[in-house]
Amino acid sequence: MHHVQQLINGQFTQSKTDEWIDITDPATQEIIAKVPQTTNDEINQAVAAAQTAFQTWRKTPITTRARIFLKYQELIREHMDELAEILTAEQGKTIADARGDVFRGLEVVEHAAGIANLQIGDFVENVASGVDTYSIWQPLGVCAGITPFNFPAMIPLWMFPMAIATGNTFILKPSEQDPMVTMRLVELAVEAGVPEGVLNVVHGGKATVDAICDHPDIKAVSFVGSTAVGHHVYERASKSGKRAQCMMGAKNHGVILPDANKEQTLNQLAGAAFGAAGQRCMALSVVVLVGAAGEWIDDIKAKAENLVVSAGKNDKDLGPLISPAAKARVEHLIGTGVEEGASLILDGRGITVEGFEKGNFVGPTIFDNVTSDMQIYKEEIFGPVLCIMRAASLDEAIELLNANPHGNGTAIFTQSGAAAHKFQQDIQVGQIGINLPIPVPLPMFSFSGSRASKLGALGPYGKQAVQFYTQTKTVTARWFDDEASRGVNTTISI
Ligand code: NAD
Repeated sequence: MHHVQQLINGQFTQSKTDEWIDITDPATQEIIAKVPQTTNDEINQAVAAAQTAFQTWRKTPITTRARIFLKYQELIREHMDELAEILTAEQGKTIADARGDVFRGLEVVEHAAGIANLQIGDFVENVASGVDTYSIWQPLGVCAGITPFNFPAMIPLWMFPMAIATGNTFILKPSEQDPMVTMRLVELAVEAGVPEGVLNVVHGGKATVDAICDHPDIKAVSFVGSTAVGHHVYERASKSGKRAQCMMGAKNHGVILPDANKEQTLNQLAGAAFGAAGQRCMALSVVVLVGAAGEWIDDIKAKAENLVVSAGKNDKDLGPLISPAAKARVEHLIGTGVEEGASLILDGRGITVEGFEKGNFVGPTIFDNVTSDMQIYKEEIFGPVLCIMRAASLDEAIELLNANPHGNGTAIFTQSGAAAHKFQQDIQVGQIGINLPIPVPLPMFSFSGSRASKLGALGPYGKQAVQFYTQTKTVTARWFDDEASRGVNTTISI
């Protein structure tokens, strides 16, 4: 049986813990590895190693740091097929989608390789006579990242490359449900030249997360995961004086106006609602049909019925959910939708996939006539379930969306520039797609979820990550060019 290793001070070692968590193939329930609940001693060793490494890493030339990420992006590309295969085996998503997961993380690595163009302070000459002020962006110290199961490649890569490139050292805590692809990415980072102690990995669940939040030598915590845990992490980490950012749960609405390009819109909707079995924080899980678009129900249903559910390695349209518990939860929520009076027009419960009878499969599921007081609307389902709602006008749709507390993503489908512009201006959601269903920005921007989907001001990659992982120092300097004394001045200068 494979035991997932930890990385402490440059050494991949097996934990001394006696608590091990099973990692199972979600398509078969076969136990494929075990991951440790890292002990407190080991967590302290990892932080101590990161603290020591920080003393030299922060003074390592920015160009040297950048070159490691140039090498790293090359290694990730070379190992793309292997990474996707590991990811699919433990997480369940299709191979094509697993490659996308790695690729979206790779883009952040490429961005980190340009750090010398990003970590640039300001300079103002002559703020007073002969006086200059400049700012420098210095790393914080030991930073930490806590990641969810649904993007085990992309989300760790949102975090440690930018943290390390900016001169910090890092403690990563991957999801205990699928840490193997994350570990392979970490091995490649070490191969690319990340020095010992600069990147460390510890494992486990709540106990490890709490130890990270409480540790006095960790300066910042980046978290991506569910809303309840995000609140816990933000409060606990903030209480011990850390900088924290938490990207959390969502309920993303697509708004379809009757003038939208029908075929393209329906294809995009089906992909975004059911892809990755709905286990994406940017999944479009609610669609609001405006006016005559309300007649597109049968077409939406037909698109969903055409999708093929199978084990991820068979590379069909949807794989299984991550665990039997996740499947039971999704099926329970579908049950509440029926009880509360929504019209279940496509039921994905109870399906079996030949050859994978024990898999955590739920097929595409659609509810029509959903209202905002129903549990299926109020809760993030995180499964392949689409809720359909209606609105008489764009204004009514905007009002409905803005009344929902979440602010991760939304999309409008229309051929009207005026309608799209109004939507962009009035909608209170941080990431907006126009005829594009999953508007996750590339790293020249930053992930910009908002409201209930986020705690902390700054996003996890891009420009905002440079700010998150650095503190600004300003230096105000005067160099005397003569010996003349200006005398003592006891007033503040004006
Ligand atoms: P999760 O909150 O269960 O787990 C996230 C991390 O927190 C894991 O590393 C886990 O070990 C740890 N954890 C779990 N329970 C804990 C507890 N009680 N105390 C302390 N730590 C705990 O989330 P998940 O199920 O792995 O991921 C799915 C969730 O993540 C969804 O809600 C999804 O919307 C969200 N997500 C958000 C984004 C975003 O950018 N907003 C991106 C991806 C996923």
